[in-house]
Amino acid sequence: VARCKRIARHVGACLRSIPYGRQWVDDDDIAAVVETLKGDYLTTGPKVGEFEEAICKATDSKYCVAVNSGTSALHIASLALLQANDKVITTPISFVATSNSALYVGAKPVFVDVDEKAQIDLNHCEDALKKDKSIKAIYAVHFTGLPSTLEGLRTLKERYGVSILEDCAHALGSNGAGSVGDASIWSFHPVKHITTAEGGAVTMDDEELHKKIRSYANHGITRLEGEFVNIDMAFDNGVKNQWYYEQQSLGYNFRLADLNCALGISQMAKLERFVARRREIARRYDEAFANLAHIKPLYTYDERSSYHLYAALFDFAALSMSRRELFARLNERNIYPQVHYIPINTQPYYRSLGYDPSDTPNALSFYEQAVSLPMYPSMSDEEQGYVIETIKEICS
Ligand SMILES: *Cc1c(COP(=O)(O)O)cnc(C)c1O
Repeated sequence: VARCKRIARHVGACLRSIPYGRQWVDDDDIAAVVETLKGDYLTTGPKVGEFEEAICKATDSKYCVAVNSGTSALHIASLALLQANDKVITTPISFVATSNSALYVGAKPVFVDVDEKAQIDLNHCEDALKKDKSIKAIYAVHFTGLPSTLEGLRTLKERYGVSILEDCAHALGSNGAGSVGDASIWSFHPVKHITTAEGGAVTMDDEELHKKIRSYANHGITRLEGEFVNIDMAFDNGVKNQWYYEQQSLGYNFRLADLNCALGISQMAKLERFVARRREIARRYDEAFANLAHIKPLYTYDERSSYHLYAALFDFAALSMSRRELFARLNERNIYPQVHYIPINTQPYYRSLGYDPSDTPNALSFYEQAVSLPMYPSMSDEEQGYVIETIKEICS
């Protein structure tokens, strides 16, 4: 303990605060944004397509629609995949945006419990699908960046004919994420793997779905002459009127700006390095906690995961400590962990809709133990060592 205190005091003296996640923006990212700012296009210009291409390449997708947040991506994917009153299976261990997106379009989320890795439980999914033929889709989340349910989702899709939406907000750079979903969504919020400030995307392989989703992101408008309905207004002697566009559905302005895309393109070039570093950090946490009785990783090192989060499970009863006390003592040392997630079906809004969190006991017990430890690629070895030693000291 004395040694740890010495380390803590020594490192602590020159320490920047250590949050659970943070962006990594370099001078070349800044230069890319400034260059765009000086150019002709601030909003929809050449950077959008270039960024979408980078996302397609990284996720092995045919099509990508960049939008202004992961939440917007969920919203327009839901518009394309669901009808009002459809039921959608989803997980309570996610950010509220996942299930909110079903509600946006008048569909009804059905929460199933999570497995031992806090991923949507495929057995529960199958039970629900057998019982209720009105379920139209599964919204799965690769929680922490672990795409462990992919094969099972593929099987359920084939067996029950449901649509799959992969919420890949945590999973950019993980192996196979986005390969099963009819549509997959991504987020570029600063805590995620790369950032555009706010930003998100939908990826898909189906051309028709792509057209729909792209038009929902832009007021439901098309400018493609092959799609025009009001032929008399669109063409003059067979030549397209240059001012002409058509609104064919009710869409939104969810466009991502060139400025944001310039940042995103520059960040995407670093994705592999960022993910490699996250995996290193995860390995080291795993090793550090291997011999501790009451702290363990949510799952032991899994190379498929791109480790958006490092979720640890603390046995607070055995440690004779509350989570609040752990947080307070870490905060004193400039370390700011988080909890992901408060089960969505405990939220007052969801309770007001009749949801009951006792339906998902694994999600509740996961929530009781979960702590997201600092995990971001710019965290130095020294900083991680300080986090580990501080946790060991507090929990010894
Ligand atoms: C971040 C996140 C979202 C929402 O993304 P935004 O870009 O913040 O709108 C959705 N689902 C999950 C699982 C997320 O982590």
